[in-house]
Amino acid sequence: MLSLIVTCWLGLYTLTPCDAAEADIARDYSDYALSIPVNHLATVRCLYRTAFRGEANLSTGCIGLPMRASLYMLAHEVGHEVSAHNGLLARFTARFWPGGVQVDGVPDDYARTNPAEDWAEAYSHVIMGDTHAMKVRRDWLLREFPELH
Ligand SMILES: [Zn+2]
Repeated sequence: MLSLIVTCWLGLYTLTPCDAAEADIARDYSDYALSIPVNHLATVRCLYRTAFRGEANLSTGCIGLPMRASLYMLAHEVGHEVSAHNGLLARFTARFWPGGVQVDGVPDDYARTNPAEDWAEAYSHVIMGDTHAMKVRRDWLLREFPELH
């Protein structure tokens, strides 16, 4: 079932109207939303505007997105919400941070912050098709989510 936010992103405003402020944000990011599987977008429950950094709140399912839209920003924050389902972050952490030590190639420096940021960076890099530095993570993600192919 499509969430209200997904209908925002897909521009189906006449079928299921979403909040006007959320519709503005969704419009800014609608081209980028097309690169993300619909079932992943559906993990996001609401949108709000931030000044310049993205945010994700896993307890509310809301993500904050800045005015300056990018695929990276959207994919990173949606990735945080995706990780909150099916024990995914725990499995990713067990696989790529055994004993608290990061292993098997990182997408970028920000991914060194902690397992949650590692996950969001790896996820966004798969969405962006930029996985040269993280082939093991890429293969793991594609096994977990065939829809990312
Ligand atoms: Zn993050």
